[in-house]
Amino acid sequence: MQDFCHFQKVVIKVGSALIAPEGRGSSVRYLLSLADFVHHCLQQGKDVVIVSSGSVAAGSGLTNHHLAQKLSIPQKQALASIGQTHLMQHWQKLFDNHCAQILLTRSDLESLQRRANAKNTINTLLSMQAIPIINENDSVVVDELVVGDNDNLAAQVAEMCNADLLIICSDVEGLFDKNPKTHDKAQLIPLVEKIEDSHFAIAGATDNPIATGGMQTKLQAAKFASDAGIDTLIVNGRNVETFERLKRNQTTGTWFKSQINKESHNG
Ligand code: GLU
Repeated sequence: MQDFCHFQKVVIKVGSALIAPEGRGSSVRYLLSLADFVHHCLQQGKDVVIVSSGSVAAGSGLTNHHLAQKLSIPQKQALASIGQTHLMQHWQKLFDNHCAQILLTRSDLESLQRRANAKNTINTLLSMQAIPIINENDSVVVDELVVGDNDNLAAQVAEMCNADLLIICSDVEGLFDKNPKTHDKAQLIPLVEKIEDSHFAIAGATDNPIATGGMQTKLQAAKFASDAGIDTLIVNGRNVETFERLKRNQTTGTWFKSQINKESHNG
């Protein structure tokens, strides 16, 4: 049986709810314990890739545009463009290692050549002890800004760079058997052996104006990753205890088991 604790390469997806808890701008409030976990992984010789949202929220904080207003797609793209440099500075404040920006689109990942180039760049950055920080290239894609979603981007990046763990950091504890916002007695599902249609049925759509995903896209990402042999955790990145537990190799949130035993494949 695989165990997510024995990972060598982790992709950590950080959503806008963590970076911009006020709905705009950017804050380190919830990133400090996450950064401490990244340091811990690096010290143990593990590779860490971050997929970070938050460019639109950062751009909105720097300008007079509020995300509660109805913004056009070009306006959101412009905010992403303004916010992205700020987002990178924000991450760089948390690490001594170089934070290296990579902006990708769906078509980059679908092109064999560009995908290979991106993979080589990421691996070279990791060999230089830099931390790749990946976001969607929002200024050149329209669909992705409308539907979202860095959750699926993170899963595709994890598959592309042969990660063995994907951690999706959210502002909820994980997958519940009912919507926890509307059901007091909703129970967290700590372990999903295999993602079924019933799991998608219980995951509602997002109601957060700055997060484009929601539990549906997190589940899609978890399914894509676990089908590709990558253990996936959906965790509450706002909870300091989450990263303390991960540092102690204890599970937290919902663990979606990899559907491929890579060890037996390799062996
Ligand atoms: N790429 C968008 C941003 O950085 C967010 C996409 C998402 O949250 O899934 O603001």
